[in-house]
Order: sequence, then C-alpha cells, then structure tokens
Amino acid sequence: MSDLSRPKGPKIIAVANQKGGVGKTTTTINLAAALVELGKRVLLVDLDPQGNASTGLGVDLEDREFTTYELLLEDLDLQDVIQETDYDGLCIVPATVDLSSADIELMSNEKRSFLLHDALRQVQMDSFEFDFILIDCPPSLNLLTVNAMIAAHSVLVPLQSEFFALEGLSQLMMTIREVRQAGNKDLGIEGIVLTMYDRRNNLSQQVESDARGNLGDLVFKTVIPRNVRVSEAPSYAMPVLAYDSSSKGAVAYRALAKEILKINKVGNL
Ligand code: ADP
Ligand code: MG
Repeated sequence: MSDLSRPKGPKIIAVANQKGGVGKTTTTINLAAALVELGKRVLLVDLDPQGNASTGLGVDLEDREFTTYELLLEDLDLQDVIQETDYDGLCIVPATVDLSSADIELMSNEKRSFLLHDALRQVQMDSFEFDFILIDCPPSLNLLTVNAMIAAHSVLVPLQSEFFALEGLSQLMMTIREVRQAGNKDLGIEGIVLTMYDRRNNLSQQVESDARGNLGDLVFKTVIPRNVRVSEAPSYAMPVLAYDSSSKGAVAYRALAKEILKINKVGNL
C-alpha cells in the first residue's frame, strides 16, 4: 500500500495503553521532540487529565486557559487552543484536570466518539502544516481514548518491559477492533515499543522475546532503555532530547523517530 492512500495532511498517531506508568507520556513527548529534531512539524494533543505532557513540555498551569477540554466540549476551534512550545516546530494542545469530567460529559453527546476527529479535521488545519499529530492518551480505555483512536490513523503502544506487560494487550486490541467497526475502519497499529528496557535484566529480555514471538513485526526494532536522564527530564520541563541530548534515552527516541519515518515512507499504515 502506498502513502498515496492517505489523504494529504498530518499523520495522526494515538499513543495508548490502558495501563498507567508504562511510558505513554514519556514516549509522546520524546518522540515529538525527536521528530521535530528531524525537521518535522508536530502537534502534541494532551488527552490525559493529569496533563503530564503539558507539564513535561513546560506549559505552566496558568498558561492552560484553552485546552483539549474546550476543544472537545466547548466548541473552540483547533487554532484557538494550539500553543507554541519552546521547541521550534512543536506545538501543543495542553490539558488540565478539567478533562477528568469530560468522559462523563461526553456520554450525553450524540457525536461523543467523534469530537476529536472532527476537531482535528477542521479546515484551518491546513495553515499549520503539521506532519504528525501525537495524542497522549489517559491510562484507560474510556471515551477519551476512543476519541483518540477514532481521530487517529494508527495506534502506538508503549509496553513496559515488566512482568504482565502483555496481559492488557488483548483488551487494547479488542478496543482497536471496536473502533474499526465504529467508523475508523482503517485504524492501523503504528507499532509496539518496549519501554524501560534493562538489558541486564532477564525479565526485560523475556518480555522482549515474548513480544517479538507473539507480535512479530509489530514490535519496533528500537527499544527504549530504562535511563535515569529520561525520568529526570520532566522535572526540568524538558524532553530528554533537550535535557541530555547524548543520553541513552535521547538516542533511543531518535532511533524510534527514524523508524517511524521509514515506516511511513513506505506507507505501512
Ligand atoms: P504513562 O504516561 O504511561 O503513565 P509515563 O510516561 O508518565 O507513563 O512514565 C511513568 C514513569 O516512568 C515516569 O515517572 C517516567 O519518568 C518514568 N519513565 C518512563 N520511561 C522511562 C525510561 N525509559 N527510563 C526511566 N524512567 C522512565
Ligand atoms: Mg501519561
């Protein structure tokens, strides 16, 4: 399949896994930063009420007047909620805890699963010329995550290299199948990325071989090592690529970005 099958516009990737603490936000921030380093324009949509991606990119709470909540539930346009970040080419729609009530508020909305989809496809998008939109999902398979999956071309799944890592995957895959039936029939799987990988740990190696054995090419060649610089970076409100550009974490996220660019060049959607 060639890339021509996808209409012009940004590639939209939902970063999802219903487990918390597996590296969704870390991956979203650092993949975005790595793509930007490679000359791409990226929009990060923070869809987690915890707002960790917003904090991690240095968007202070007082600068979060317009957020994904307003985009989804108050009919604001994308252009009204997009903010520039300190990183050239990287924009964000931030989130606050307000979004935690959205899941319930969305229930009564007829278009509840399609609100993000519609918001991201507004005509004004053209003027931004993003190459990628990365959506940082909450740790749940709730309506927010469904909105992300309906809006996306593909799902990227961070998988923590820990015991039970593969356990939640079947539920996630079921949700992906449901979203395909609910209207996004071409939703693809961008790939599964092993995070917090420790080469010296047998368990990490076991999770990797299980994942590659069961999921084959869906698993990215790049694995993200457990790296203290990665975990320190958010407290300086920076991607690890900016905080410590030569750290193992930064190098790995650059490799992941290159792998994603390569996949998308051959149009493996
Ligand atoms: P999620 O968004 O899935 O809840 P996070 O990205 O917030 O997960 O990561 C959970 C915690 O693990 C955070 O404290 C983060 O700094 C840390 N972390 C994530 N990836 C790494 C890594 N490669 N090395 C070390 N710590 C990491
Ligand atoms: Mg998160």
